[in-house]
Amino acid sequence: NPFGDGRNYNKYSNGVGRVPVGIGAKRKRIVVTGGAGFVGSHLVDKLIAMGDDVIVIDNFFTGRKENVVHLFGNPRFELIRHDVVEPILLEVDQIYHLACPASPVHYKYNPVKTIKTNVMGTLNMLGLAKRIGARFLLTSTSEVYGDPLEHPQKETYWGHVNPIGVRSCYDEGKRTAETLTMDYHRGDGVEVRIARIFNTYGPRMCLDDGRVVSNFVAQAIRGQPMTIYGDGKQTRSFQYVSDLVDGLVALMEGEHVGPFNLGNPGEFTMLQLAEVVKETIDPSATIEFKPNTADDPHKRKPDITKAKELLNWEPNISLKEGLPRMVNDFRNRILNEDEGKGN
Ligand code: NAD
Ligand code: UDP
Ligand code: UDP
Repeated sequence: NPFGDGRNYNKYSNGVGRVPVGIGAKRKRIVVTGGAGFVGSHLVDKLIAMGDDVIVIDNFFTGRKENVVHLFGNPRFELIRHDVVEPILLEVDQIYHLACPASPVHYKYNPVKTIKTNVMGTLNMLGLAKRIGARFLLTSTSEVYGDPLEHPQKETYWGHVNPIGVRSCYDEGKRTAETLTMDYHRGDGVEVRIARIFNTYGPRMCLDDGRVVSNFVAQAIRGQPMTIYGDGKQTRSFQYVSDLVDGLVALMEGEHVGPFNLGNPGEFTMLQLAEVVKETIDPSATIEFKPNTADDPHKRKPDITKAKELLNWEPNISLKEGLPRMVNDFRNRILNEDEGKGN
């Protein structure tokens, strides 16, 4: 190799922050975009624990420094405030591309920015992967299936998506990101992986990010009614964050491009979810019905046969086991918030 130390380097490396890869490599250098967010910060914890070097790129739109503050001072961790819509030069072995708001409330807040993040952000990260020969993993979403006509959803299903609706910036944005990923793979030989993530919950979710699990948990802790949108008979399948993170690493390290559904097949109506939250947090918790949002998918449940067979992965934390694990984190943060207000 050009550095004369007999080790195996990334072939495009210009030697800046060079890291050996492949056989005999001690550790990898990994970028996590969106690494200050909910899923990203848990992924970063796992990668650091595995002994890798991690660079987080985040513009802090929905991410928080608090999610990674425990890693400040760790020489294997770096945090860069950067918007993925702008190009960036780095030398790494792997790119986990998570940067994108995930809660409907956040991604609808500035829909054009959401599209730019999904399209230009993904293009930049693929351009980076191409230049340096890094492996690239896209965190896509079950939303690519839209309001599905097939149930449960398999990876072969092409989806039922409204191209002009209020959710389109996100679901069409992610569909385009998947297309870009496959075109860089086919056209430029970039090594890629695609995960289609189903609804995920756990500690560090934004308290008021508007997703259903964080809403119900925060509402039950604050003694407010849990808000059910519509009749509450719509379904979702809820995955605990550590199961997802294990799946993402298995996918990145494995041999298969995907796409792979990563989700927990346990399916619940919103009414059933409210019951579980009630049992877990406060038996006297109440519910309140509110009008549903436009284009809300009626049902969603992953078929994870493919991930089980090819990645040897399946989730093992049920909703009843997972919920209590996020309650402590939520209680502490709600308490701090109240103290901050002088209550
Ligand atoms: P999150 O909002 O907590 O995290 C997203 C992170 O990306 C935040 O830290 C945010 O600041 C950052 N970000 C957003 N736009 C950016 C930009 N332009 N440049 C740089 N950073 C930017 O959401 P999450 O739940 O952690 O989701 C992570 C990824 O997983 C997203 O791509 C999301 O689409 C995908 N996903 C999540 C779920 C889920 O249930 N959590 C489901 C399906 C897909
Ligand atoms: N890019 C980047 N970092 C790199 C290489 C590329 O951010 O190290 C960006 C680049 O600015 C471009 C995008 O990735 O906007 C796609 O790059 P590619 O080389 O595929 O296409 P081109 O530059 O020819 O449009
Ligand atoms: N929902 C709800 N109450 C809330 C927030 C959401 O009943 O306070 C419903 C929402 O209408 C949807 C489901 O919960 O049917 C999941 O919504 P979420 O925003 O968590 O994720 P989505 O799967 O829609 O992206």
